[in-house]
Amino acid sequence: MTSSIAFVGAGPTTIYTLHALLEQTALPFSLTIFEEQPTAGRGTPYRPGWNDPAMLSNIASIEIPPLEETLIDWLNAQPASRLVALGIDPGEIGERTFYPRLALGEFFHDQFEALLDRARAQGVTVNLRTRCRVVDAVSEADAMVLTVRSRSGELTKARFDHVVLATGHQWPEDPEVRPGYYLSPWPATALAAIPPSNIGIRGTSLSAIDAAVALAVTHGEFVEDDEGGLSYAAAPGTELFRMTMMSRKGLLPEADFFAPLPYEPLAICTPEAMEALIAADGLLLEPAFALFRQELIAADPDYATATGIAELELEDFCERYFADRAEADPFDWAAANLAEAERNYEDEHTVPWRYAILRMHEVLALIVPHLDAEEYRRFAKHFKPVFVDDYATVPHESIQRMLALHAADKLDVMAIGDDYRIDSHRPEGGAVVTVAGERHEFPVFIEATGQRPLQAKAFPFPSLLEQGIVRDAQPGAAPSASRGIAIDDQFHPISEAIPEDQLFCLSLPFLLGRHPFIQGITSSHEMGLVVAEQLAAAIERDFTDAPQDDAPAVAA
Ligand SMILES: Cc1cc2nc3c(=O)[nH]c(=O)nc-3n(C[C@H](O)[C@H](O)[C@H](O)COP(=O)(O)OP(=O)(O)OC[C@H]3O[C@@H](n4cnc5c(N)ncnc54)[C@H](O)[C@@H]3O)c2cc1C
Repeated sequence: MTSSIAFVGAGPTTIYTLHALLEQTALPFSLTIFEEQPTAGRGTPYRPGWNDPAMLSNIASIEIPPLEETLIDWLNAQPASRLVALGIDPGEIGERTFYPRLALGEFFHDQFEALLDRARAQGVTVNLRTRCRVVDAVSEADAMVLTVRSRSGELTKARFDHVVLATGHQWPEDPEVRPGYYLSPWPATALAAIPPSNIGIRGTSLSAIDAAVALAVTHGEFVEDDEGGLSYAAAPGTELFRMTMMSRKGLLPEADFFAPLPYEPLAICTPEAMEALIAADGLLLEPAFALFRQELIAADPDYATATGIAELELEDFCERYFADRAEADPFDWAAANLAEAERNYEDEHTVPWRYAILRMHEVLALIVPHLDAEEYRRFAKHFKPVFVDDYATVPHESIQRMLALHAADKLDVMAIGDDYRIDSHRPEGGAVVTVAGERHEFPVFIEATGQRPLQAKAFPFPSLLEQGIVRDAQPGAAPSASRGIAIDDQFHPISEAIPEDQLFCLSLPFLLGRHPFIQGITSSHEMGLVVAEQLAAAIERDFTDAPQDDAPAVAA
């Protein structure tokens, strides 16, 4: 028989999975894709409305895994007018350039369409169902049954042999959950309605920069001078517009730094070394940190001496890593760091310690599913922030914008430490942040700390919870220490109650506890490779198990 396969969600994760699947099987199958948006293929962070055209992606072209073509090839094939409309200077296309997120959305959309054409040519029956939200899923012995709400509001059921959930980020539809209090900075259109006022933003990294940029372009504009310098011009009547970004340490992210790609191999803290630790079946965090430390010392002896890492415990290293920055004014640090990053790009110079940590984040991620509860707590609180800081650097233009807003007296950064309180339940709206007894009032307050790992109870398909197929990986963990849902290395929910390969869960917030660094286009690609291999094998099995008369012809 030919397999029937459904994807729920049409964002980058589905696109990369489908791409890998078409590479791996020439057999026909029936493909259905459900997407609740009117158009498919842009995912959440790359579609208009959700994002402001000014928002930049934080991944350079060279890092985006190719689909039917590379991003650079696609950009070079576009008419200049389309590029200009997307905020891209046709003369500035380069493999290390960062583009507006909406431009990536157009790329993914076009790639998705091309993939569907390839699938049809390969004999796959394609059924793309936009404006259709899957609201539930039930596992039966011979099929996964999805309940689908169509554009008219009608509920129907559809049966599939294999289902991939790739529903992506999960935020409230309307972020203003109480007057003046926003639970997320998206959709950007919601922020556009905020009047010029004193705005608090919890977070100082990528999501907070998104919020600040969306508000800044609502109440003024960034102006580039002839030398490439950037300033911010506030619109008339916006004197009350001011933003304060806040986080425990009050640090801005650093500027994207030059690094050789693809990654050069590590010498000591290697995937093989991690696999050996896992196989030894003992505690993992300390020996893994010891390997991390040795690699860093070997990679950058000067950095090792300056930080004294040879003598430091894990917690102390984390403190030391951030210490100089935490002492400095965040905007002075940002200006100096940007100048250094620009110089290093110019000279193609790699800072060895930065590059070593960058490469090690994916290696250390291997042990995370195997950490016990206390090790996981230590990893999440002390070790993970170092890696996130190192890989979640931002485009140089984002730093220039933060500096321009600060110079225009529109942006500040506040360190609130661990001992602060935020009261967002006030009759007058917004929030009050109390730090060391001092009250800071914000008539508008935006939570912008990014996607948190979610527990099973937030899973959007209730029957899978009732069937016990989706459950917490670590029942009873506090929401702040959630390890997401129980899944195996092939992204199957771990459960006896479901046939093999019937369901794959690639819905990011539920995976973050197991795979803490999985947010990003490269992760969509890697997860897609894993699931496509399983799907291709299942298609083959379904096909060869079918009585010969039923088996359709294979496309040439
Ligand atoms: C604001 C933001 C900016 C980011 N920027 C970058 C970046 O610059 N670079 C980078 O590498 N990564 C970035 N990321 C990380 C991001 O996770 C990935 O790049 C990518 O979007 C993940 O793709 P996805 O398909 O898993 O999820 P999504 O892109 O969220 O797509 C999921 C899709 O599923 C649909 N959907 C959800 N539920 C249902 C349902 N029940 N029924 C039908 N359809 C449904 C949604 O409408 C959506 O189209 C960013 C993330 C955020 C939140």
